[in-house]
Amino acid sequence: MNPETKNVRTWPGGPMRQMSAERFSGSIPFAREIDSMSNAGRYVCETCRLTCGGVLLKDGCWLCDACATGKARKGRQMTPEQRLAAGARLTLARQARQTAQDDQPTA
Ligand SMILES: [Zn+2]
Repeated sequence: MNPETKNVRTWPGGPMRQMSAERFSGSIPFAREIDSMSNAGRYVCETCRLTCGGVLLKDGCWLCDACATGKARKGRQMTPEQRLAAGARLTLARQARQTAQDDQPTA
């Protein structure tokens, strides 16, 4: 049985962690008490909100590996490469439509 945990920013501008007033599975005693909670668990990614073993600071947000590298486990975020490919497909489709219209006989 696990006590309730809250996602808490461990210091202003710092990463989010699961915190609880009681010890819980995988928790460690935290150096400070935050909102009377002093047991810290896993880190929480600010983008996907999933817990993970560690987060890293990217563009002012603390992100899990998957989000920081653009390989999100959830959601529809695309990598820059995927976005480029999608844009190229759109352009091709638009050109194909344009060509088809040009081929229409003018009455
Ligand atoms: Zn994430």
